[in-house]
Amino acid sequence: IPPVEGDFYHLGDEALKDEDRALQLKVRAFLEKEVKPIVNKYWLKAAFPFELIPKIAELNICGLTYQGYGCMGKSNLMEGMLAMEMARIDTSISTFFGVQSGLAMGSIYLLGSEAQKQEWLPDMQQMKIIGAFGLTEPEVGSGVAGGLTTTAKRNGSKWILNGQKKWIGNATFSDVTIIWARDVDDNQVKGFLVRKGTTGFAVEKMQDKMALRIVQNGLITLTNCEVDEEDRLQNANSFKDTAKVLKMTRAGVAWQAVGCARGAYESALSYTTTRKQFGRPIASYQLIQNHLVEMLSNLTAMQTLCFRLSQLQDQGLLTDAHASLAKVFCSMRTRDVVSRAREVMGGNGILLEYDVARFVADAEAIYSYEGTKEINTLIVGRAITGFSAFV
Ligand code: FAD
Repeated sequence: IPPVEGDFYHLGDEALKDEDRALQLKVRAFLEKEVKPIVNKYWLKAAFPFELIPKIAELNICGLTYQGYGCMGKSNLMEGMLAMEMARIDTSISTFFGVQSGLAMGSIYLLGSEAQKQEWLPDMQQMKIIGAFGLTEPEVGSGVAGGLTTTAKRNGSKWILNGQKKWIGNATFSDVTIIWARDVDDNQVKGFLVRKGTTGFAVEKMQDKMALRIVQNGLITLTNCEVDEEDRLQNANSFKDTAKVLKMTRAGVAWQAVGCARGAYESALSYTTTRKQFGRPIASYQLIQNHLVEMLSNLTAMQTLCFRLSQLQDQGLLTDAHASLAKVFCSMRTRDVVSRAREVMGGNGILLEYDVARFVADAEAIYSYEGTKEINTLIVGRAITGFSAFV
C-alpha cells in the first residue's frame, strides 16, 4: 500500500471508524494489485476487463449505503471515499462501478416496488447482474428534464417504447437497462427495466472515445420495444423522481473527480522527486514546487468539500444544489490538477505508461457527464437566486 500523499489533512485516517478504514485500505490494496497493472492496456484497446467483475464483487461494496438486499448499509462518506479510491487508480473502473452501484441499483432502490427490489438488488449487489441507466438521447442531453423524446405508450399490461439513448455506460453488456421515457398519455417521465435480449432493444458500441475508454458506452435503439407493466419502476412518476437518483450519484461523481485529481497528483509528486535535471531532482526547483502546491491545495479543498457533502448526505440534508456545487467545483479543479501534473512530467506526461495522460483525458468526461458545468451551475444559481435561467 503506497503512502497517502494526497490526503494532506488526514481525512481518511481520522474520519472513518476502524472497520471502515480497514475496508478502505482493503479496496486500495485490491486496486493497486489487480487494477493498476492492467488498466493502460485495456484503456488503449477501449476494451473492458471482464475478469475484474467477480473480483470487485468479492469486495462486497456494491450498493454500499443501501439497507437490506445484501447491502452493507454503510455511510455515504464511506461510499464517497471508495469512489475516490477507485478513481485514484482508474476513472473508467470507477465509472463502471458507479453506473452499477449508483445509477442502476439506485434507481431500483429509490424508485422500485418492494417486489422489484427483491428481484434485482441482491443479484446486482453481488454483480451477477449488471445494470445500465439510459437517460441521455442523441438530440437531448442537458435538456432531459423537459425534452425527452423517447416515448412510452401503455397497451394493456404492456408498454411500448420507441426512441434512442446515447452514451449509456455498460449498455453493451448489461443484463438490465433502466430506460427513461415520456408517457405519451400523461406526458410524465417514467422508468422501465428493460431486460437483455428484449425484442426491439438494440445496442451499438460507441467507438473512438478519447476519454474513459474502458467504459463501454452504448447507443441504444428502441423499436416497438415491449416491456411488462411489472417492469415499470413503480415509484417513478415524473422527472422529479429521476432527479432523486441524480442527486445521489452527482455527489459520487464529485468524489470521483477527487480520485482522478489525487491519482494524477500522486503520480506527479513521485515523478518529480525522482526525475533529475541539472543534477538535482526537479521537485527541488521552485517553479515545480509551485505546481505541486497548487495541485495539493486544489485537491485538499475538493476533499474537504466532499467530506462535508457526504456528512450532509448522511444527515439527510443534501439538496440538489449541494450536490451540483460539489460536482462543478471538483470537476473544474480536477482539470487544473491533471493539467499541472501533466506539465511537471514533461514529455512523459503524454505517455500512457506514466498514467497521468489517462487522468488528463478522463477528467474531460467527468467534466461533462452527470450534468455539465453549465447545467450544475444553473441548478446552484436557481437555488441561491430563486430565478431559473435554464431557458
Ligand atoms: P449538450 O446538452 O448538447 O450541451 C452542449 C453544451 O451546451 C454544454 O457545454 C452545455 O453545458 C451547454 N448548455 C446546454 N444547455 C445550456 C443552457 N441552458 N445554458 C447554458 N449552457 C447550456 N447519460 C446517460 O443517460 N447514461 C450514462 O450512463 C451516461 N454515461 C456517459 C458517459 C460519458 C463518458 C459521457 C461523456 C456522457 C455520458 N452520459 C450518460 C451523457 C451525459 O450525461 C451528457 O453528455 C451530458 O448530460 C451533457 O449532454 P450533451 O453531451 O448532450 O451536451
